[in-house]
Amino acid sequence: MPSAALPPDEAERIATLRGYRILDSLPDERFDRLTALAAQHFGVPMALISLIDSARQWFKSSVGFAQRETERDHAFCAHAILAPDAVTVVHDATQDPRFANNPLVLGPDHIRFYAGAPILAPNGQPLGTLCILDREPRAFSEEDRHFLTQLAANASDLFDLHLSHLTLAEAATRDPLTRLANRRQLEAAMDTAMEAAFAGRPFALLTIDLDGFRAINNKYGDEAGDDVLSQIGQRLSSSIRASDVPARIGGDEFAIILSDPVSHEIVSRVAQRLIADINAPIEIEGAADGRPVVMSASVGCALALRHGTTPAEVRRSAKEAMYMAKREGRNRLVIADEVVPLLGNASYNTIEHRLGEAIAQDQLKLQWQPYFLTGEGRLTGYEALVRWTCPGLGPVVPSTFIPVAEASGLIGALDEWVLRAACKAALEIPEQLTISVNLSAYWFSREELVPLVKRVLSETGLTPQRLILELTERTIITHDESARHSMESLRELGVGFALDDFGTSYSSLNYLRKLPFDRLKLDRSFVGDLGADRQAEAVAGAIVQLGHALGMSVCAEGVETPLQLGFLNGASCDLVQGYLLGRPDWEPMSASTPVAAFAKA
Ligand code: C2E
Ligand code: CA
Ligand code: CA
Repeated sequence: MPSAALPPDEAERIATLRGYRILDSLPDERFDRLTALAAQHFGVPMALISLIDSARQWFKSSVGFAQRETERDHAFCAHAILAPDAVTVVHDATQDPRFANNPLVLGPDHIRFYAGAPILAPNGQPLGTLCILDREPRAFSEEDRHFLTQLAANASDLFDLHLSHLTLAEAATRDPLTRLANRRQLEAAMDTAMEAAFAGRPFALLTIDLDGFRAINNKYGDEAGDDVLSQIGQRLSSSIRASDVPARIGGDEFAIILSDPVSHEIVSRVAQRLIADINAPIEIEGAADGRPVVMSASVGCALALRHGTTPAEVRRSAKEAMYMAKREGRNRLVIADEVVPLLGNASYNTIEHRLGEAIAQDQLKLQWQPYFLTGEGRLTGYEALVRWTCPGLGPVVPSTFIPVAEASGLIGALDEWVLRAACKAALEIPEQLTISVNLSAYWFSREELVPLVKRVLSETGLTPQRLILELTERTIITHDESARHSMESLRELGVGFALDDFGTSYSSLNYLRKLPFDRLKLDRSFVGDLGADRQAEAVAGAIVQLGHALGMSVCAEGVETPLQLGFLNGASCDLVQGYLLGRPDWEPMSASTPVAAFAKA
C-alpha cells in the first residue's frame, strides 16, 4: 500500500496545525454539528473531521466511525491534503491502486467511497479534511463538491474560533510579561493541589522575591526591568518539571507549586538550583554600561499539610519564610519550619509524634452522634467520631490532627483503630441500629481496605449490614476506579456506603452515578442556611431529589434548629443528624431521644 507523499513545507504545516492546540482536545459540539450535517446531507454512514499529524490522523469529530485516530499511512485524507484547493474523490477504493489493500478498505470498516475537502489555515496550509465515507461506491456531482468545500470552510472558521477562545482564556490566566501563570491562576492551581495533598500527594509552595530589584528599574529603566523579569521567568520555568506550576504574582515576586514528591531534601535542592539560576548573569539589551546584571532572590518554602491545611495558610507560611530569608541576609532559602508556629501551639512534628503514640497506646476514644428518621424521629444509628486528648497538649480537635494523620500516613492506623473500636461497640447496642465510620482517602490509594474490613468484621462478629462507611468526595475523585472496586466487593458482603460532606468540594454527579453509594450526606454548610436563604433551600431540596432519583437515601448533617428540621421534613429528606437532635456523646445509648424536637418541627 503506497503511503501518501508529504506536502511541501511539511514541517511548517505540522507547526501550524499544532499551533491550534486542537489535537487531542475535548469533543466540541460545533464541530460535531458539521459532521452530522455532512452525513445527513449526503446520506452517508460516516463523516469525519480528520487532522493529519506527523504520524497519525486524529479525528476532531466523527460520525459512524469508532476510532479516535488511525495511522497516517492508512489515511485517505493524507492524500487529500496534497491537493489543498480541490475535493479529493475516490469513487471505489477497491479499484484505486492507492487504497485497494488499505486496512480501512479490507478490514471491518469496508470503506469503498471517500470524498474529502481540505481544511485550510489562513496561510493556505491544509490541516486536514472534512470528509465523508461510504461502504458502497457512489457518484459525486459538481454540486456535491461545492457543498463539501463549503462545510470545510466552515470547519476552518471553527479552528480560528477555537484558537481565539484559548487565547482569551489564557489572557485571563497568564501574566503577559513572563507568560507564566498569574496570581489568579496560581490560586486556582493551589486549590487543586490542596485537594490532591489531602489525597496523599503533597506539594510545596515556593515564594521567590528578587532582592534589590527596584535598583534595576532606577538604574536602567522600566524596560530593562521588564527584560530582567521575563528572563528570570524563563529560567524558573525551564528548571522545573512540567507538572510544577510557575507563576508571577506581583512586581518582582514569583511563586512555584512543586508537585509530588516533596521532602525537605528535594525541595531544598530544587530551591537552591533556582537560586543559582537566578544568580547567573543577565544581559540586558541597551544597558548603558554594557555589563550584565547579577540578581539574587530570597525564597520561602511551605509544605502543604505540614505548614498549613488550607491554600491561604500555605501561602502565608511560604511568605513568612521568605521574609525570614530576607532578614537573614537574602539570596537564600528558608523552609517554613523555622518560622511558623505550626497548627496552633503544637508543631506538626509534635502532633505527629504524639498521635503515633496515642494510636499505639490506645489513647484515642470514640464519641457517638445519633441519626434519626426525619418524619417519625426514630433513632436508626450512630456515627463514630474520634476524640483525642493528648497528655501534653490537652484535647486536640479532629480538624487539627486528621490532616496531620493523613499527611504522615498515620491515618491508616487511626482509621483501623476507629473501625475496630466502632464494630466492637456496635455489639453493645440494639441490633437494628447501624454504625457509621469515617474513612480517609488513604485507603483508596492502596488495596488494603477490603481485607481490613473483612478482618475486622470476622474478628468482632458484627453483621456487615450494620456497618456504613462514610467517604468524602475528595476520597473518591482521586481514586475513582479503585474506589469502585473496593466498594463493590464490600457491598457484596452487605456493608453500606455514605457520601459525606456532599456539595462541598466537587460537583461529582458523575461519581455519584458510577459509584455504589447507599446514602448521601448533605453538608452542614447547606443545612445551616435553611430557613434563611432561599438559594440554600433550593439546593438542599434539589440534592434530596437527586439522591432519591439515584436510589439513595439522604441524611442532612448539622441540624441545629427546629426551622431547619421542619424544612428537611417538608423536603422529604430521609435522615437527620445534628446538635438539635443529639450531640456526639461518649455512650451511644445515653443520647436522650429528642422526641420534643421532632414534635415541634
Ligand atoms: P464529619 O464526618 O462531617 O463529622 C461531623 C462533624 O460535625 C463532627 O465534628 C461533629 O461533631 C460535627 N457536628 C455534628 N453535628 C453538628 C451540628 O449540629 N453543628 C455543627 N456545627 N457541627 C456538628 P468533628 O467530630 O470535629 O469531626 C470533624 C471531621 O473529622 C469529621 O467530619 C470527619 O471528617 C473527621 N473525622 C472524625 N472522626 C474521624 C475518624 O474516625 N476517621 C476519619 N478518617 N475522620 C474522622
Ligand atoms: Ca462523617
Ligand atoms: Ca460530614
